[in-house]
Amino acid sequence: RAIVERRMAHEPARTQDSVPIEVCANVAGVEESRAAFEAGADGIGLLRSEFIFMARHEAPDHDTQREIYQQVLDSMGSHPVIIRTLDVGADKQLNYLALPAVPNPALGTRGIRLMTRHQDLLDVQLRALLSVTPLERLHIMVPMVTEAAELVAVRERIETLALEMNLEKRPALGAMIEVPAAALCADQLARVADFLSIGTNDLTQYTLAMDREDPDLAGRADVLHPAVLRLIDMTVKGAAGRQCPVGVCGAAAGDQQAWAALVALGVEELSVEPARVAAIKAGIRKLDRAALSRQLRAWLDEPIDSATLRQRLEQWLNEY
Ligand code: PEP
Ligand code: MG
Repeated sequence: RAIVERRMAHEPARTQDSVPIEVCANVAGVEESRAAFEAGADGIGLLRSEFIFMARHEAPDHDTQREIYQQVLDSMGSHPVIIRTLDVGADKQLNYLALPAVPNPALGTRGIRLMTRHQDLLDVQLRALLSVTPLERLHIMVPMVTEAAELVAVRERIETLALEMNLEKRPALGAMIEVPAAALCADQLARVADFLSIGTNDLTQYTLAMDREDPDLAGRADVLHPAVLRLIDMTVKGAAGRQCPVGVCGAAAGDQQAWAALVALGVEELSVEPARVAAIKAGIRKLDRAALSRQLRAWLDEPIDSATLRQRLEQWLNEY
């Protein structure tokens, strides 16, 4: 069965009721993207570019970055690649960027908030990204977005740089939905973004006010909390009809039970660890999306906690 699963991993996955779901991979660099291609990923759903910045004593220059981004694109055949702009602050530190010690770094200047204060760093990264070919396969994603204006500012910057570089094409630009404010305003973001990708790790942390790093809360900081699922539902509905596809790149996308709830809520793409691609595609092929969607909405109408919902999903998925 494992061999069949691995062979089938290279084929696109559809649910029993014929809903196509893209299964992409989360990677930190070129080696992992090669592993993702081997594993049958339909693309890279998240390249965490901070890993390219963290392994050094100073920020990588334009040529170093361009080389890595190009290699990642080259490693993925004809598949699309989503590269996230530098996401540091809070749990992700860079020793050459002296970030001030603040009482609540998770609520501080991080992600795109930090990059707008270091326009020089952002410009080097955007120029390196705009130098790759083919640009049609590159998608740029912005982390920690809280309002549409932040994405609009990045798009304007890309436009300015692309004009300077005499480029004819522009890469797609998307926003991560990982702050409750972004999920609540997803309809507004969908009007300025080419795609949305839900970061369930941070979205869970910020919705439940539970630190993602706190071991005492690890058992309760669950994406299957109805509040988090409502925000995901809201994001999908907010983007519907706007030609703005919605994916998930947080750990929930590859989670044993949660992936099915995400598909049931209407997410079109899941981005998972390369090693999970085959199993998630196999699960999708067995899933009746419409049936689970109805069942999930019925479960969520009652008072239900994440542990109970997890058990019910597990049972549902085992009954195939
Ligand atoms: C997330 O928050 O879910 C996410 C994908 O980003 P990271 O885990 O890198 O913060
Ligand atoms: Mg995040």
